[in-house]
Amino acid sequence: RAASCADAAPDRRGMVRIKSPRELDRMRESCRIVAEVLRLVEGRVRPGVTTEELDAAAEEFIRSQGGVPAFKGYGHPSNPFPATLCTSVNEEVVHGIPGRRVLQDGEIVSVDVGVLKGGWYGDAARTFAVGKIDPEVRRLLQVTEGSLERGIAAMCRGNRVHDISAAVQQHVEAAGFSVVRDLCGHGVGKDLHEEPSVPNFGKRGTGATLVDGMTLAIEPMVNGGGWQVNVLEDGWTVVTRDGKPSAHFEHTVALVNGQPEILTQ
Ligand code: MG
Repeated sequence: RAASCADAAPDRRGMVRIKSPRELDRMRESCRIVAEVLRLVEGRVRPGVTTEELDAAAEEFIRSQGGVPAFKGYGHPSNPFPATLCTSVNEEVVHGIPGRRVLQDGEIVSVDVGVLKGGWYGDAARTFAVGKIDPEVRRLLQVTEGSLERGIAAMCRGNRVHDISAAVQQHVEAAGFSVVRDLCGHGVGKDLHEEPSVPNFGKRGTGATLVDGMTLAIEPMVNGGGWQVNVLEDGWTVVTRDGKPSAHFEHTVALVNGQPEILTQ
């Protein structure tokens, strides 16, 4: 799940929570469940399946593992997110609500899942092809996943947060696509969204310094056209303003012994 880039309360800003080795072990467990949910969903995505069928399978699996769906009930009490997964189809960027929509051959669906277990969160997302997709849409998925890999590779001890951001942005824009500006990656741990904010654009050598024990959800949201987005009347679903497709890949990553460890692999 993506954070609003101005999500952190003012009194929290700048407070990055560092995790102990024991706390990282607890996060590894939540993140293992997240990774397994995405593999389970991957095996079920095909033309003819509905997004609520994917959602039900994900929730059942998470609860069988002693976890809780982290997104269900998230948000303002007047409009809490109603489901386990975010399922965002085609021009939907993130935070799509599962329902009766039947996935069609040639579509793409971004699936985002969060799990809470033992007081610790994990968060990850992937965009899946439904059947056979257009080569240009295939390239959008490959570039977005590649930008996540480059962002993760920049998460080294002594680097700065915006070194991650710049690595993502550079890879995406060199391919002729654009990064969403309104939504960001984030710290993750005891809360689903912690400091620091991890934008998908930025200037190298700026932002908080990366130190061992930091845990970040790095999550490029990449549009096939322009970066501008709108939010639908449901209050959740983010869509591209130009109607072009969008992709989303996310991992929860810890900085361990100076190097990135992908917890949701
Ligand atoms: Mg997230």
